[in-house]
Amino acid sequence: MAIRPFQLHRPDSLEEALALLDEHGDDASPIAGGTELLVALKARVLHYEHLVDLKRVRSLRGVSLDAAGGIVIGALSTHHELANDPLIREHLPAYATLSDNVANIRVRAAGTVGGNLCFAEPHADPPALLCALGASVLLEGRGRSRRVRMEDFITSDFTTEREDGELLTRIEVPRPASDRTFAYANVGHLERPAVGVAVGCRPHGGGYSYDVWVGAIAGRPVRLAAVEQALAHAPRADAATIARRTAEQAASELEAHDDIHGSADYKRHLAAVLVGRMVDQATRGQAKGNK
Ligand SMILES: Cc1cc2nc3c(=O)[nH]c(=O)nc-3n(C[C@H](O)[C@H](O)[C@H](O)COP(=O)(O)OP(=O)(O)OC[C@H]3O[C@@H](n4cnc5c(N)ncnc54)[C@H](O)[C@@H]3O)c2cc1C
Repeated sequence: MAIRPFQLHRPDSLEEALALLDEHGDDASPIAGGTELLVALKARVLHYEHLVDLKRVRSLRGVSLDAAGGIVIGALSTHHELANDPLIREHLPAYATLSDNVANIRVRAAGTVGGNLCFAEPHADPPALLCALGASVLLEGRGRSRRVRMEDFITSDFTTEREDGELLTRIEVPRPASDRTFAYANVGHLERPAVGVAVGCRPHGGGYSYDVWVGAIAGRPVRLAAVEQALAHAPRADAATIARRTAEQAASELEAHDDIHGSADYKRHLAAVLVGRMVDQATRGQAKGNK
């Protein structure tokens, strides 16, 4: 099906982009890589009279360190750029690996992390790991800006906290403590993950404490607090076994549904298996000193 006609705007600055979104209101949509939006426009699931192309807005590009050593990721960064970025590879190696495994090279080359988060397709990789990393997103509108924690940003399938007229301009990841390790893996048989699990691990009170997030299974990433609690005083050697056992119970209570990626029960099973594996991987990373 052909896309219905629209007017393409190509602003050079954030101010110009925000002014265009303000001016055209509901009739306008931002577009970054277009990997999701163009498909929806072609299928005529969506239609906008005005598209505001963000590609020329240089301030939305790149990765940098802030004054506190946190990592600032421009919304327009593509998955491919993030997989190969020296700062991401050095400070957030688990995120670099995640980015390198998103979709296929064509989607990685055009698709941006900002587009991924704003579209909020539930079968996505970045949200769960960004939650485990304690990330926030910066939303900017005309003359206003606000920070939203990643764990609050996606509210359900295809729905976020972003309001009309706002752009997601950057993702802020606090400086990862040097003694904290992260692991992420997904399982999927189609192009997108059926389930993804992110685990953060750090030394605590003679053992380790863990952050455990499951992504893709529900409309938003879910924290498995019961698994975190069960692991709080676990001996290192037993962590993966305890995680797997408690994750089975915790996953059985996860809201999930049958879809083309598998049945709800199958996805719950995958989640429990991945939690065990990622806890093991993150704990081994501690022994090796990987971040
Ligand atoms: C075949 C295929 C396989 C895929 N596999 C995976 C996978 O394995 N894992 C995974 O995580 N993802 C996967 N994806 C999703 C992919 O990551 C996204 O398509 C991509 O990141 C979207 O970015 P984009 O720049 O193309 O967004 P666009 O299509 O340009 O925009 C998507 C939406 O976000 C809005 N938007 C974009 N940027 C901003 C911004 N800065 N501020 C506010 N709103 C904005 C747009 O208005 C639009 O509503 C896959 C996609 C495809 C097509």
